Amino acid sequence: MAKKNGSDKNINRTIIQYFEWYVEGNHVLWNKCRAQAPRLAEFGITDVWLPPAYKAGFIEDNVGYAVYDMYDLGEFEQKGLLKTKYGSKQEYLDCIKAFHDADIRVLADVVLNHRVGADEFEDVSAVKVDPHNRYNNWSDPYTISAATVFNFPGRNGKYSKFTWNHTHFTGVDWDNNERQTGNIYRFADKNWAGDVSNEMGNFDYLMGADVDVYNPEVKKELESWGKWYLDLTGVDGFRMDAVKHIGASFMKEYIAKIRDYKKDRDFPVIGEYWHGDINVLENYLNQIEGCMSIFDVPLHFNIRQMSYADGNYNMADIFNNTLIQRRPQNAITFIDNHDSQPGQSLESFVNTWMKQVAYALILLHKDGIPCVFYGDLYGIPNTRNIPIPRLRTLIRVRHDFAYGEQHDYIDHYDVIGWTREGDDDHPDSGIAVLLSDKRDGMKRMYIGKKFAGKCFRDCMRKIREVVTIDDEGYGDFTVQGFSSAVWVTEPAYEYLVINED
Ligand code: CA
Repeated sequence: MAKKNGSDKNINRTIIQYFEWYVEGNHVLWNKCRAQAPRLAEFGITDVWLPPAYKAGFIEDNVGYAVYDMYDLGEFEQKGLLKTKYGSKQEYLDCIKAFHDADIRVLADVVLNHRVGADEFEDVSAVKVDPHNRYNNWSDPYTISAATVFNFPGRNGKYSKFTWNHTHFTGVDWDNNERQTGNIYRFADKNWAGDVSNEMGNFDYLMGADVDVYNPEVKKELESWGKWYLDLTGVDGFRMDAVKHIGASFMKEYIAKIRDYKKDRDFPVIGEYWHGDINVLENYLNQIEGCMSIFDVPLHFNIRQMSYADGNYNMADIFNNTLIQRRPQNAITFIDNHDSQPGQSLESFVNTWMKQVAYALILLHKDGIPCVFYGDLYGIPNTRNIPIPRLRTLIRVRHDFAYGEQHDYIDHYDVIGWTREGDDDHPDSGIAVLLSDKRDGMKRMYIGKKFAGKCFRDCMRKIREVVTIDDEGYGDFTVQGFSSAVWVTEPAYEYLVINED
């Protein structure tokens, strides 16, 4: 069971989001994940999504989305600090190298939508708009003092001579004359990008100084930044932040340019489009002609609803109106992330008792690429969330044994299941999964005649009895209420138990 495998196309991929909102600051994350890289590969992680690596506009421990200078990866004395929350440029590069040495692909977090922490204010003619419908003007044009001058004195032109001013942005949320929060100002000579989310009338504006991606100088600059970043870091893919606030045609063109530059049409790109309605997500995928994967937010909400329903949820509906049902080739599945965790902007945390069930669902069912949340693997001390039991075992099962033809039994209010027949490329592969959101359950499921007379065991280790497959290739698999049972072959079981955490 080889573990150096990120470049092997014949294995199931698993991404880890290697941060949570409150992950320790003090510039230690790059060193920590560098040290962890071999271990992550060993239990089956193939891809790692790292947080934004560039200098944030304010406060030392900013998570990184309040981007100030995308060329400062913890190299220049800017915003009062050399390093970012996570460390220095060299530590970031060393961390990426450690992942590559472990044959894990690295996905960089790319924030193009906004800039924060300008070096200077300038006078700009702007219109105050209704924050709840940005097409409603609340004023005639008047002069505001906008934080839109970014000249990066601490970097002094290294890597890029480009400096930003108000012509490169569409609007801001702060007038330094008026000094009131809660406002949004559109620059009088600009329109919001038309091809963005239509929430709030038009959701081009999110925060900070909103980048005008259709300004030709900006487009050119963002492209040259992308090339610089790829050359410097050697990252293997992008996670694009806040794409619902960025013009869709710009995004499509940008990704094409990046892939051309890499000479790799499969260069992985994952977009963050936060919306629970599958029709909205499908519409976006159509707009960008499916050029990137996006997170399966509807599935996250289905799972969250199920986790709080005390069994009053029809598990047969769990995949209804999700990306893995409608657009599996574009689906990145996840249970929670740094925005949905307790205390954060999109808080919608899945109930802890169900997380093992939920991870079994996304890790062991065939479709989508799952993204495991740091806070679920390691826990979140800040909000006292525990690590999810046997999550590493589930990732191992996915990596080593969840192969072959799938037979679905997603057919019951309280208990659902499926089997994978296994294949010849993966020794001892073949699994049966049963999940319950309430009562104990049993299902007779087909797993393949080749297993006739063979035994299966539950590697979640809640059920001690062995299941023997009959001559027709069926087994009577069981699950305890409110839990998951993951049945594997006996050799697989022994391997998993030996390596259990
Ligand atoms: Ca925008």
